[in-house]
Amino acid sequence: MSDTFRALRVHKTDAGQETRFEDLTAADLMDGDVVVRVEFSTVNFKDGLALTGRSPVVRVWPLIPGIDFAGEVESSSHPEFKAGDKVVLNGWGVGETHHGGYAQKARVKGDWLVKLPAGLTTEQAMAIGTAGYTAMLCVMGLEKGGVTPDKGEVVVTGAAGGVGSVAVALLAGLGYRVVASTGRKDTEGDYLRGLGAADLIDRNELSGPGRPLARERWAGAVDAVGSHTLANVLSQTRYGGVVTACGLAQGMDLPASVAPFILRGVTLMGVDSVMRPKADRAAAWGRLARELDLDKLDAMTSKAALGDLPRLAGEILDGKVRGRMVIDVN
Ligand code: NDP
Repeated sequence: MSDTFRALRVHKTDAGQETRFEDLTAADLMDGDVVVRVEFSTVNFKDGLALTGRSPVVRVWPLIPGIDFAGEVESSSHPEFKAGDKVVLNGWGVGETHHGGYAQKARVKGDWLVKLPAGLTTEQAMAIGTAGYTAMLCVMGLEKGGVTPDKGEVVVTGAAGGVGSVAVALLAGLGYRVVASTGRKDTEGDYLRGLGAADLIDRNELSGPGRPLARERWAGAVDAVGSHTLANVLSQTRYGGVVTACGLAQGMDLPASVAPFILRGVTLMGVDSVMRPKADRAAAWGRLARELDLDKLDAMTSKAALGDLPRLAGEILDGKVRGRMVIDVN
């Protein structure tokens, strides 16, 4: 590799922000004890927010966005990593306050890295990406709350998106009866059934103002949507059920009542992927490598290049991206 590498950087301007494709050198990178030759990154919802500036995800300027990447260690002074190791990174403020994955090279703290789990390529790791890893954290949350397949149906909201698609595939693979809530029933119904959804509901059934308590339906839920959708899911959750909340695709508000908690003992479990301790990360990535059906992963993944990112950023925020999007940065 030459001394320069290709990167996408966002710069602050009087009008807001501007995306530039640039040739950078190691001197442009931030501090860290491991240099990684990035092979693949991805587009998550948060990357869409960072690239468009629609929410203040980027905190330092100029910044290379990209909240996750996978690649090969080029050099390291961290005791756990050596040149040639394949690694994955997601979270820790990378792509927000530290240069991220939309470049052919990254310099980061070794403490943030996870060794690529056996059985996955760097491309597959990024097909999973932050979205898929978060879906696994949600599944682990349901299990921790005692939601087993025999307890009843589990609903996944935002099902045709990244978190949703991986959650549907994982839960179906574990034997749950999964109901997928989507706004794209007509175009993505077959896709979602292919991932293992037993049934589909139109997201309009959940996205408007609802009652404090509704008919009990769900033993558990993975919610990537927030707002009225999360409120309605809570009101439809069965006695003792668990709802894992990780997203805000509909909105950050939660217009709900305490009724599901105090009358049905429902648990609302928050899921954050960014600052998750290292042991949980290793456990989640290990389970993804063992339990996610790689044919299903393939079916939910499309591939694009660094140059496609500005277009894809708008598309993911508009809910037009299906499943997961891998970015080949080279
Ligand atoms: P995607 O855009 O891939 O998926 C979001 C899905 O939500 C869409 O595909 C769509 O599904 C649905 N959706 C979009 N807009 C609306 C709307 N207005 N009302 C109802 N449903 C809507 O994003 P990701 O899967 O990457 O992320 C999903 C959410 O999870 C985001 O809010 C993201 O910020 C959050 N997230 C949080 C993490 C954490 O650490 N807590 C980590 C990763 C993601 P459909 O077409 O099927 O209806």
